[in-house]
Amino acid sequence: LFITLEGGEGVGKSTQLKLLQAALLSAGVDVVTTREPGGSPGAEELRQVLLFGKHPLSLRAEILTHFAARYDHVDQVITPALEAGKVVVCDRFTDSTLAYQGYGRAEGNLDVLRLISRLQEQLGRDPDMTFLLEAPRDVARLRLAARGAPVDRYELSDEGFHARVLAGFQEIARQDTGRVRRISTDGLSPEAVNAMIVKDIRARL
Ligand code: C5P
Repeated sequence: LFITLEGGEGVGKSTQLKLLQAALLSAGVDVVTTREPGGSPGAEELRQVLLFGKHPLSLRAEILTHFAARYDHVDQVITPALEAGKVVVCDRFTDSTLAYQGYGRAEGNLDVLRLISRLQEQLGRDPDMTFLLEAPRDVARLRLAARGAPVDRYELSDEGFHARVLAGFQEIARQDTGRVRRISTDGLSPEAVNAMIVKDIRARL
């Protein structure tokens, strides 16, 4: 079972990843948690280029680099784990490329969305379940400020970019045919969100 967590910055994906890992482990599920961009040694190197590289890449180069990282991650980590019968939970996957590069950077340009779809098709690995975490942007901004992690290229982008990214995630959910579960985290404790996710996953196991 291949599960992905998606959403904008500061919605609590990494907290949920940790809670989910603990919950599945204590239920005796053999689980592997990972993240993108990155997740394999080579892909983590590409993450540095993507998030902190000195020179911004052109849009198409950025998309191809995200996918280069993703192909390595899938080939070296995700597929072997799934074939060994493990449950894999990944923080971000292709939906993030659609939202950030396709809807955020390219503003929904159809050629760009098609390029991303083609690369995803060739990859040949789709999530079975995706949890899209959503929080109001001001709540997310407060969480980001409190986190104090190094600020990457995208977090510095203007509010218009972030609004397009969130609209992109909504569009992905709208076009979905049963893979994506939207969870509004506003007013919920991390534990409550975790309980919703775990319940859904257990129904699939
Ligand atoms: O998940 P996390 O917030 O750590 O993501 C790292 C950064 O990479 C974020 O700033 C996110 O916006 C950005 N990102 C991106 N395009 C992707 C995936 C992540 O711009 N396809």
